[in-house]
Amino acid sequence: MENHYDIIVAGAGMAGSLAAAMAAKKGMKVLLLDKNKESEPGKKTNWGWVCGDAVADGHVQFVKNKLGIEFTEEELGCPVDGVVALSPDLKSRFMFDGKGYVLERPKFEGKLLATAKKNGAHFIPEFDVENPIIENNFVVGVSGKDKNMKHMEFRAKIVIDCLGVATNLRRKLPENPYIDRMVDIDDMESTGRYIYEVELTKEDLNFYDPKIALIHLNQELAPGGYGWVFPKSGTRRINIGIGTQKSSIEIRNKKMNKKDTLHSLMDEYVKWIPIIKSTKLDTRDNNGKGYWSVAVRRQMESLVYNGYMGAGDSMAMPNPISAGGIGPALISGTIVGEHAAEAIKKGDVSIKGLWGYNLEFNELYGKKTAGMEVFRTYMQSLNNELINFGMKNFLTMKEAQQVAYGMTPELSAIGKLKMVAKGTQNMTAFMNMVWAVNKMKKLNEIYERYPKSPDDHFAEWRKEVAESIEEAKAKFQPNPI
Ligand SMILES: Cc1cc2nc3c(=O)[nH]c(=O)nc-3n(C[C@H](O)[C@H](O)[C@H](O)COP(=O)(O)OP(=O)(O)OC[C@H]3O[C@@H](n4cnc5c(N)ncnc54)[C@H](O)[C@@H]3O)c2cc1C
Repeated sequence: MENHYDIIVAGAGMAGSLAAAMAAKKGMKVLLLDKNKESEPGKKTNWGWVCGDAVADGHVQFVKNKLGIEFTEEELGCPVDGVVALSPDLKSRFMFDGKGYVLERPKFEGKLLATAKKNGAHFIPEFDVENPIIENNFVVGVSGKDKNMKHMEFRAKIVIDCLGVATNLRRKLPENPYIDRMVDIDDMESTGRYIYEVELTKEDLNFYDPKIALIHLNQELAPGGYGWVFPKSGTRRINIGIGTQKSSIEIRNKKMNKKDTLHSLMDEYVKWIPIIKSTKLDTRDNNGKGYWSVAVRRQMESLVYNGYMGAGDSMAMPNPISAGGIGPALISGTIVGEHAAEAIKKGDVSIKGLWGYNLEFNELYGKKTAGMEVFRTYMQSLNNELINFGMKNFLTMKEAQQVAYGMTPELSAIGKLKMVAKGTQNMTAFMNMVWAVNKMKKLNEIYERYPKSPDDHFAEWRKEVAESIEEAKAKFQPNPI
């Protein structure tokens, strides 16, 4: 029985360490596996902890309240007053989110892993999880290689998948009607991120603000996504990066007769910031420069299968508009451990026995993301000129904030129409926005009817979601230039 556990958590990133910490706290025998060395908790790839690291204080408080973890200033990193999104012409600024942090990621994740271990989870580092073990349509364990490349198998009543966006557990589930095994390439953002110490020529709050996480919407610089400059603790340290959509890059290159790649666009973006005089790569923790991906679709329609649960990026949880995935990883990681422990105590680890996790995650976070996916698709259909015009004329800051949280503003269409009646292109973009907001409303309403169990008309419900999303994708094609 040496290799038998109640719960196996695969991946000791944000979501995984929290899942293990919570399940162990609830008295479960927990195994936590990660391919990283113990000294590199949560490192995503050989390129480091590739992330903007910005998180809202509310999400950190959620973890604190549920698990009693107190974070130090060193772990939380740089406090910020909020996120500001700037239009391509830098003339409109929309503020979002309120108080938050740009985390010192290795330290923050070190705290989460230490909590999991302190609560009693058994951690095996340098273990590469390769496959789920599936018997009678139930996930009953995982197999992989230890640090000496020895093949090993571990078994458990529940496997929690926290392997991040490239998970090879979700991708290897049996074909099933609940969880997509693949993510559409157009729903992925390819990202690059550097951490620099910078010398600036002058102060300019459009490009660096020690108190604000700045986002630059600009379809030429970051096609299908955005660029960001986030302040880090310490003098003049920044986390700078871009997120892009592959097809938007291709369309932009074709129209502009260019051959840019994610890597060249990343360097162009750094050069575009006019106040940067010099940069020095911050090589601490070998975390200065990296590239990785984020899924920006709604989370998987079900987060559970027989003997299987997922949290964080493995379930495509990042916010479809902002790509912020730390918040949902913190929330889902914390509650998935509770639900797993409860199901084991009740003796039902079937999809039906695990379904309560779907219901709680939807209430706390998930039920707005399908609507936000539609709005993201709409935004990817706008060029810089339309974004400039739209941020000035279509939406107030309050309405934009509502959209960013998945709520649907009552657009005062008639008043706004007068303003936009200045050209057909603008008029079409405005009418499309009204269409997108109405579709968001519809999807929010569909998610209010999320099935109470897997046999509560799930197939019909899922079809309704898919139809709305497909309609939006057919209407809004990427059109960055
Ligand atoms: C460039 C970039 C910028 C971002 N910026 C922000 C931001 O500013 N704010 C925000 O909220 N979100 C941001 N995100 C998203 C955020 O980083 C993720 O949502 C978050 O890290 C998800 O945490 P996770 O625990 O689910 O997965 P991960 O952080 O990916 O952790 C997965 C863990 O699984 C382990 N693992 C993977 N495969 C295996 C395997 N086969 N065997 C064993 N272990 C394995 C990894 O080593 C890692 O420890 C950004 C993402 C990117 C790429």
